[in-house]
Amino acid sequence: MMRLRIQRTTWPRPALVLTDTPDPNCPECEGDGGFEQDYGDSETGEYAGTDWWPCTCWNESRRWLLLPLPHRRPAGPYRDPWASDEPPF
Ligand SMILES: [Zn+2]
Repeated sequence: MMRLRIQRTTWPRPALVLTDTPDPNCPECEGDGGFEQDYGDSETGEYAGTDWWPCTCWNESRRWLLLPLPHRRPAGPYRDPWASDEPPF
């Protein structure tokens, strides 16, 4: 069974997307949607970071574009640097 949710994303572009979500009653990940695993540096053995593995109860790549959103522009008058009417030099 798929549990779909509407989310706002900024990648690869601003949009509303419909996404699959982890099973809240999943016996594997208990609804977290994945597993964290610390790993160490291969030479020193010291903590080097945390890997995150998605659980099989959902598919994070399963998403559908619903509505593209306009790119956010900086506040104030917007000036396109490529559309200058002044000579470049
Ligand atoms: Zn799971």
